[in-house]
Amino acid sequence: MSGLRLLAAPTAGQVDALRETLRRAARLPLYAEVILRAGVTAETGDADPVASLQRLPLFAPEMQGPLARQALAQRRHDLGGVELSSGTAGPPKRRILSEEDLALDAALLTRLLHHAGVVASDRVAAVELAVTPLAAAFLDGCERLGGRDSTALAWRPGADLAPLQRLAPSVLIAPPSLLDDLAPSLRGVRLVIYNGDRLSDRTSASLRAAGAGVRSLYGLTETSALGVSCRAGSAIHLAPEHALFELRRLEADDELVVSTLGFSMPLLRYPTGDRVRAIAGACACGSSWPRVAVLGRLGTRFALFEVETSVDELRAYLLAGTDAPLEITLDDLPSARVVLTLVLPAETRPCWRALRTRLRAHPQLGYLLVTGIVRLRFRIQTPAAAGRKRTPLLDRRGAREAASAC
Ligand SMILES: [Zn+2]
Repeated sequence: MSGLRLLAAPTAGQVDALRETLRRAARLPLYAEVILRAGVTAETGDADPVASLQRLPLFAPEMQGPLARQALAQRRHDLGGVELSSGTAGPPKRRILSEEDLALDAALLTRLLHHAGVVASDRVAAVELAVTPLAAAFLDGCERLGGRDSTALAWRPGADLAPLQRLAPSVLIAPPSLLDDLAPSLRGVRLVIYNGDRLSDRTSASLRAAGAGVRSLYGLTETSALGVSCRAGSAIHLAPEHALFELRRLEADDELVVSTLGFSMPLLRYPTGDRVRAIAGACACGSSWPRVAVLGRLGTRFALFEVETSVDELRAYLLAGTDAPLEITLDDLPSARVVLTLVLPAETRPCWRALRTRLRAHPQLGYLLVTGIVRLRFRIQTPAAAGRKRTPLLDRRGAREAASAC
């Protein structure tokens, strides 16, 4: 596929792991079909796994659910765990883990914690709303670093802080939403590692003012952790042993595309939806891992009632195999209904009826259309002015309420 390039030259370990990953992927029906269609054979996959990978199409994120089901069906005998996203922004995402994946995750966390600056003498507390397999992997990682004082703790805002204070951690690992509440009460913490979305400037500043170094652990629920920032700055070092990284060119910067090198549920060429910029040259911390600055999410995700999707996902679902650009406009209708307008090039017009039928068959969105809760319309794209970027998503819902509230 054109437009994608490797973030860094693949290491020998990455090539070997990718070869194994392709073999395992070929045993999952979903990938068997994709691999066959791309003309990749067992022989070419073995001989040049990177070139074979790059012949595959980008993973359509809405296939993540079916892939999880297939991976689960094949791994019932040695299921190590299932990780679920909270689902607050849409249906929960699942990651199926085998026992081998859990061991791999612990090894990965060891490397990431080392990059972040955790040492054997640290007392580490991993705080989350509930003790999750990820928190358990943190502890495993700490143990492998030689640490003997690591604890996972469930805590929610407003709850008693005494258990955490008794632990007197020197390193705290927690999601940003909890750190906002914890930051004012932290004493003696030298390092804070936040996992999840962006940490607010206020919390970050208050942690630094209290003498704590702040590191970002970067990853997605469906991929596990992918990298971490180091003492030298906010750029993320990406761990090459656990995933292969590609960059998809955007109008400005790139989207990070990952292929995970795990056992149960490989994600091949999975677009992260994160806008990144590669950082060239060696890092002052001495690590040879490649670095990216994570600049934010690509703003094409949207929710239609309880269904979360994105322009890219819908494009992959409706227009796979074509180059037609898709723009989406969302508008309110009276009686709490929504108009979904697909804005497409004129030459797609003969297909509009088929596209409507296809969208009505969409596993999540279909019923919204069939029941009339969402109305579907089509519009012809006007040619983009020279040098002007298209707006893939125009969400005008709530505009009237917002105007009248002013
Ligand atoms: Zn570094």
